[in-house]
Amino acid sequence: MPDHTKTAQGRELAMGPRRYSRRRFIGSSASALAVAALPGAARAATNYKGLDALVIGAGLSGLHAACLLQEQGLNVLTLEGRNRIGGRVYTLMDVPGNPEAGGEWMGANYARMMDTASKLGLEMLGPNEVSDIREWCYRIRGEYILAADWPGHPLNPMQGDDRQILPHRMLFVLSHKNNPLSGQPLDAWITPELARYDIPQTHYLKEYLGFNEETIRLMNVVIHTDHMNNTSALHEMRRYAVGEFSAKLAATRPDLPAWRQIKGGNSRLPEAMAASLENPVELNKTVYAFEDNGSEVTAHCMDGTRYTARQAICSMPYPVLRKVKFTPRLPARMERAIDEIDYGTSIQVHFLLKKNFWEFDELPASMWTDEPFERFGVHHRGPNGEPTSAVAFINGNDAYKYDFMTDEQVAEFTMRALERARPALKGALEPIGIQSCHREVHGGGDWVFWRPGQVSRFAAHMREAHGNIHFAGEHTALLERGMEGAFESGERAAVDALLRA
Ligand SMILES: Cc1cc2nc3c(=O)[nH]c(=O)nc-3n(C[C@H](O)[C@H](O)[C@H](O)COP(=O)(O)OP(=O)(O)OC[C@H]3O[C@@H](n4cnc5c(N)ncnc54)[C@H](O)[C@@H]3O)c2cc1C
Repeated sequence: MPDHTKTAQGRELAMGPRRYSRRRFIGSSASALAVAALPGAARAATNYKGLDALVIGAGLSGLHAACLLQEQGLNVLTLEGRNRIGGRVYTLMDVPGNPEAGGEWMGANYARMMDTASKLGLEMLGPNEVSDIREWCYRIRGEYILAADWPGHPLNPMQGDDRQILPHRMLFVLSHKNNPLSGQPLDAWITPELARYDIPQTHYLKEYLGFNEETIRLMNVVIHTDHMNNTSALHEMRRYAVGEFSAKLAATRPDLPAWRQIKGGNSRLPEAMAASLENPVELNKTVYAFEDNGSEVTAHCMDGTRYTARQAICSMPYPVLRKVKFTPRLPARMERAIDEIDYGTSIQVHFLLKKNFWEFDELPASMWTDEPFERFGVHHRGPNGEPTSAVAFINGNDAYKYDFMTDEQVAEFTMRALERARPALKGALEPIGIQSCHREVHGGGDWVFWRPGQVSRFAAHMREAHGNIHFAGEHTALLERGMEGAFESGERAAVDALLRA
């Protein structure tokens, strides 16, 4: 039985299990596609009267908020700047094997996301059903090293038992050592007692854990921020504490596999959520300004259209929000947070495979390296685990230099670097796509991260509403991270909006 509670205006809210409607999904998908196909002028003429809420952004957080508000009887319209649904969830349907270019893995702790997928009738694949990148070899300081040789290798900088940790696992395992957040509630990272760890991660690794420079250099190769000296240790501690929570769930609950993906590609989930909305998502609606007159919010779009509703939920990532004008202005602390908080960077270069190059040099197909292309992986996503495509995946500081290149130059630069490092790759690759959220107008980066000092200054305040505007998005999540963080934030923003409806 659902619990019922009342809003300030007396509206009754059902707080029990949610009812995403599969019937609506099927019924409205045709109309969503029809509206998406209309020319801009016709879409601009669409008239929405009596909207209770606008949701800006058709990523997971915005869509989850929109679905929840609709379930509670509100008239909701979602505006999306891109010409597709899903935001940072993006399955590449034109690359063999359909790899994920954005949000990829759901952990055992992704309760809201799994619940939504199953309510919409989507199937999920467990770790044994998604065959992907397999064994790595390592290329460090110009030398190839096999996994079996790493513990005894002279280039291994670690001591004692740590020497067993493979290079691609170093960041995860070593960052989690003596983690003060381990076993704490998931929101402990913002408590004042832990603010002493809001310091550079490199400092923490050196001074608290005693790691040497080379260990820290290798940990920093594939970093989900920009550089560890520019990352709060508290941010990394939180990252691994959430991972630990998920791992514990997977270990104790056989029904919750450690990793899952949506069958047919993760994009199927936001698409199904969007299609379940009665008002189809308006695509190509880039919002550049909000006006709040105290009783209504108007969102102004780049194509000259305006949409007005009683409240708005804004799920844009901060690097995009920086360019958006608010009337009245945002409070100073919020403006500073939006200006200063950044997202990790990455760029992916996807390739078709023209030959099984690993049969020529007999090394494992995938490489984890300290070269400019960082990780080069062969996806095995064929029906029987056959190799399907390859990707060079560059994260963090190393990804910034690609800002100065066109897509063609990125592909050329990466191919040449790969061929220099591994001659067997000559003639084996054909670039088919470059993907980087950081390069996209509506993106800004991969995942939010906190620089030293930012957790203490901003993390407790990012969920505050501004008049009738609420803020959602993975960056505002308190407990979870990534895709589940997006769901958590959408739920919180929807409840805030409902309480004022
Ligand atoms: C390469 C990569 C790998 C990842 N891997 C994982 C993973 O394995 N597991 C995991 O949990 N998470 C992962 N993530 C993170 C995860 O994808 C995101 O945290 C999550 O999808 C964010 O959802 P969101 O709704 O908060 O933001 P978004 O998905 O960014 O949604 C915001 C929406 O707002 C739209 N928008 C932006 N500006 C405007 C504007 N001005 N007007 C209108 N609309 C606008 C955007 O187009 C977008 O659709 C990964 C991300 C990337 C990029």
